[in-house]
Amino acid sequence: MKIGFIGLGNMGAPMAANLAAAGHQVIGFDLAAPCPDGVLKADSSTAAATGQDVVITMLPNGAILRSVAAEIIPAMDKGAAFVDCSTVDVDSARDVAADAVAAGLLAVDAPVSGGVGGASGGTLTFMAGGSDAAFAKAEPLFDIMGQKAVHCGESGAGQSAKICNNMILGVTMIATCEAFALADKLGLDRQKMFDVVSTSSGYSWSMNAYCPAPGIGPTSPADNNYKPGFAAELMLKDLRLSQQAAKAVDAATPLGQHATDLYRVFVEDEDGQGMDFSAMLPRFEKKGR
Ligand code: NAD
Repeated sequence: MKIGFIGLGNMGAPMAANLAAAGHQVIGFDLAAPCPDGVLKADSSTAAATGQDVVITMLPNGAILRSVAAEIIPAMDKGAAFVDCSTVDVDSARDVAADAVAAGLLAVDAPVSGGVGGASGGTLTFMAGGSDAAFAKAEPLFDIMGQKAVHCGESGAGQSAKICNNMILGVTMIATCEAFALADKLGLDRQKMFDVVSTSSGYSWSMNAYCPAPGIGPTSPADNNYKPGFAAELMLKDLRLSQQAAKAVDAATPLGQHATDLYRVFVEDEDGQGMDFSAMLPRFEKKGR
């Protein structure tokens, strides 16, 4: 396929490189980042989008997605697919998809889980929203960039799944970190705590696969001085999106709100910026009630 790829940052560059390595013709554009090996460089987002079968965007937020979409939708061939893999608010995803469909395009919102490691290794999970035809066109590319793609429903369903998942992740990471900090003060050995919880009803991905305690459980950012991994500010972004969506549909998410507040303080008022989101554990260690 001929693929345009816009947004070649930490995530987009390895995703585009994997598509090129699989034999697709990929032309990329980014305002600042260089093109990875195998990806041709376009001079503008419009140039990257013109004449392609599929255009993929991997951008920082909904406002930037909307502005890039306004540029590229008129330039794309009718019948081509606009696949946005950025994490953005549900409304932006739905509005951009509606504009694309109105212009005769196929549209998919397909945010990812798996981080930079998953993008490099081609092991991302895609959660997709859009029509059956749009999903079918994008699916072979998801299979190259990832290990699993779930068609979650109509436009916006991918973003909805993503923010619900990450709201659970933020809450369980905080719960796991505060439990370790409590266990420390109770004199409980961290390895024993892990051995019990990881095989008991408190287990979770945060504990079992991404343990926030250094030297305990599988290797995780905690073993690398909490270098991300998944940065605390990205968790804050996703939690804010979850609360924006919850407000819009009048959903009660008290723990999601509390997790958002805690990550906001950690990132904006304390030293959480640039740390992995599991660095909540050293944060709690230093605190009393
Ligand atoms: P990033 O900041 O490294 O990359 C974004 C890129 O977009 C940058 O290179 C920037 O120059 C480019 N850009 C900005 N405006 C542009 C424009 N108008 N035209 C062209 N390029 C433009 O961010 P990232 O870590 O690659 O994340 C991208 C998206 O993926 C975000 O929505 C993020 O929430 C999501 N995400 C990130 C991770 C992660 O672990 N990094 C995990 C899952 C999802």
